[in-house]
Formats: sequence, C-alpha cells, structure tokens
Amino acid sequence: MPDYAQLDRDYVWHPFTQQQGWSEEEPLVIERGEGSYLYDSEGRRYLDGTAALWCNVHGHRHPAIDAAVREQLDRVAHTTMLGLTHPGATDLAARLVEIAPAGLSRVFYSDSGSTAAEIALKIAFQYQQQRGETRRTRFVRLREAYHGDTIGSVSVGGIDLFHSTYRPLLFETHVAEPGDAADLERVLAAHGEEVAAVVVEPLVQGAAGILVQPEGYLRDARGLCDRFGVLLVCDEVATGFGRTGTMFACEQEGVAPDLMCLAKGITGGYLPLAATLTSEEIYEGFLGSYEEFKTFFHGHTYTGNPLACAAALASLDVFEQERTLERLQPKIVLFDELLAEVAAMPEVAEVRQKGFMVGIDLGPHDDALRMGHRVTVEARKRGAFIRPLGNTVVLMPPLSISEDELRELVAIAGTAIKATVATAPGQELPQAA
Ligand SMILES: *Cc1c(COP(=O)(O)O)cnc(C)c1O
Repeated sequence: MPDYAQLDRDYVWHPFTQQQGWSEEEPLVIERGEGSYLYDSEGRRYLDGTAALWCNVHGHRHPAIDAAVREQLDRVAHTTMLGLTHPGATDLAARLVEIAPAGLSRVFYSDSGSTAAEIALKIAFQYQQQRGETRRTRFVRLREAYHGDTIGSVSVGGIDLFHSTYRPLLFETHVAEPGDAADLERVLAAHGEEVAAVVVEPLVQGAAGILVQPEGYLRDARGLCDRFGVLLVCDEVATGFGRTGTMFACEQEGVAPDLMCLAKGITGGYLPLAATLTSEEIYEGFLGSYEEFKTFFHGHTYTGNPLACAAALASLDVFEQERTLERLQPKIVLFDELLAEVAAMPEVAEVRQKGFMVGIDLGPHDDALRMGHRVTVEARKRGAFIRPLGNTVVLMPPLSISEDELRELVAIAGTAIKATVATAPGQELPQAA
C-alpha cells in the first residue's frame, strides 16, 4: 500500500492548517465511513464528531443517497446550467422552495457556502442598484461573523484570526454586535440609507465558536430591516438542514429572509452544492430586455451539478422517510443532559448549544498551548474525531447518530478534556491552585 501519510507530507497543503505542525504529526488517513464512524488505513474506527465538517446529515454511506448518486452516474455526471437545465436541478429547486420559509421562490445554484454568500451579496447589491436605490452599496455584518473564505464573503466576516490579514483587500462594511438588536438599530439609524442588506447567521454564529443569539434577535433584525428598507440575508449554510433542530434556523423565529444561503448539509454531506434562494420581488428586479443588461452575470462551472442534485434530492427523501427531524428531538434533549455534566467540569468554562451545534469552551488559555487542538488529539486516541475552534471544542455529529453513539461522543470529549488539562504544561485548575 502506498505511504499516504508521506505522500500527504510531500504534496498536500491543507485548509486552515499550519503545515509546519501538521507535517510533524501523524496524519489520520481515512479510507472509508459507515454511519457515524470513519475508518482509517489501520482499520481503527472513529466517531465522526464533526459530521465531515458540519455537512453530513444522515450518516456516511447511506444506502438511499449512495443509490441515487450511482443512478445519476448511469445517466450523466455533469452538464451545465448555462444554457441547459436538467431534471435534478429543476426537481430540487421546487423542493427547496417548498420547504424554505414563505416568500423565497427562486433558487440560484452554486457549489460552496462561500459562493452562496458571495452570490447573495452580489444579488442584493445589483437589485438595489437596478431599482434605483443607488446609494445602497454597503452591507451590515455582525462582529465575529463567518460567511466563507472568498474575498466578498470575507468582507462580511469578522473573525480577526482568519480575516484581518486580508483587510486591505476587502470592501468596507458597517459592523453590529452579535445578538444585540439595539446595536443593529443604532447602525441602521446612522447608516441605513446606504445599506443594501444586513447579513446574519441565523440563531447561531458557528465558526465564531457556536455563539448562540438571544431569543428574538432574528425577529428583531427582520423588523429593523423592514423599517429601514434594507434586505435581510440569512446564511443558513451551517444551520440549514436540521442542524438547529428545525429544517432551517429561521423557522424558529418565524422569519423569512429576502435571501437565504444554503450549502453544507444540502446534499446530506455527499457532494459540493450550494443554493442562494431569493424572493420573487428580488428575482423580478433582474427581469428586462436583453439590452437593459439587468442579467445576473454570475455562474460557476459546476453550478447545479447533477450528481450533487441527485444526492440532495435523496437526502430530502431520507428526511421524510426516516422522519429525521422528529427523531432528532429526543436526541437533542439527551445531548443537553449529557452536556450538563460536561458544563459542570472544572476544566470547562462554558457549553454553548443550539440543537446539534455544540461548543465546549475551555476558557482562556495561552494560544501556544493549542488546548483545543490537544483535546482533539486526546479524543482521537479514544476513538472520536473532533475539531476545535481555538479553545472551543466543537461537537457536530451527523443528525443520524444513535443515542448510544451520542453518549460515547460526549464521554470521549469529556475524558479528552480532562486528560488534556491534566497533562498540558503549566495548566493548573483554579481550585487546584
Ligand atoms: C462553512 C460556512 C460557510 C462557507 O461554506 P464553504 O462551503 O466552506 O465555502 C459560509 N457560511 C457559514 C455560516 C458557514 O458555516
């Protein structure tokens, strides 16, 4: 068998990874997955506590999704949405509109969360220009926001560690405090007339460390957008497809955004696909004769890929057939109970949870100690793959995880945290001091 670890060290550059440290550690080479587990090249298995980085919904190798992709493969793997259409893209668009918050009636496909956000920004901007609101060229973003890694989506992001390097390349925005409607009102009162849209992650700011917004914030944001004539963009890339306990997070506040970004869970975590949904009013703002040039001049090569659409349709079928959301509710309650024990650990500062999005915050530690990372190394030894966001340990299992597997995952996270704090240099518990 080829030495994949060595090939990786020799040729691969990993995302969000300091390669210097990476090449000093033994990489985990994953060869296959099954349900909630991943299997490495040595045959060891790990609970997938990241759901393939927040996108797997029904588990790995789900028979129905596997079959749908194979069937599509027997027809055609890829065509184009520029000048053509296909059954998967049309069926899926209709299904998405059916399950999306009321008023969202058009689906623009792309292939990642970043492009879904980028597209929402460009549509919002162009829509405002074309309806004569030419002063509305700015966006309001939330501090600590994350909408992807392309330059436009980074412009409305606010995580300094990821984004500050690029500041000179980014367009200017107005910044509101996360979860603080009074602050959003202040920003809109001061600058509302030049704002095209407010961009938010509904209910939970994921990449910020699973920051949960206070109840009512999203509803208030919707109200403020209406009052100031500003569009509301909800980036449901992380929260969509059941992550927070409902199909979309917006539903929990009865909010319908003007634009909604979907990606990650849309294919059940199988293939890259994204969609930006818009209201009919926005869609109509782009209609006109060819020479008016109101066209939305944007499109990616793999936009609306048929294999990805087949996976997405099969995933929506599984939601219905397996009553995924209904069966998720008792698991959220169990997760909550299990996490109460973790929250009580002296090594843990805070646990933040919304549905199946969980952040276990270890509190402030010296960056150089990489406490979050150390916890994931300890977890790996105990049979779970998890990832940190700084000093926050994130648990984001597939929605299909069983109750026993969930118990195992939380138990491993707890013991890994204990082991890390006990062995990291210079770490002493407050009460031990
Ligand atoms: C992950 C994420 C993105 C970016 O998605 P990619 O597919 O990684 O480009 C955008 N917005 C939110 C809220 C996300 O969590």
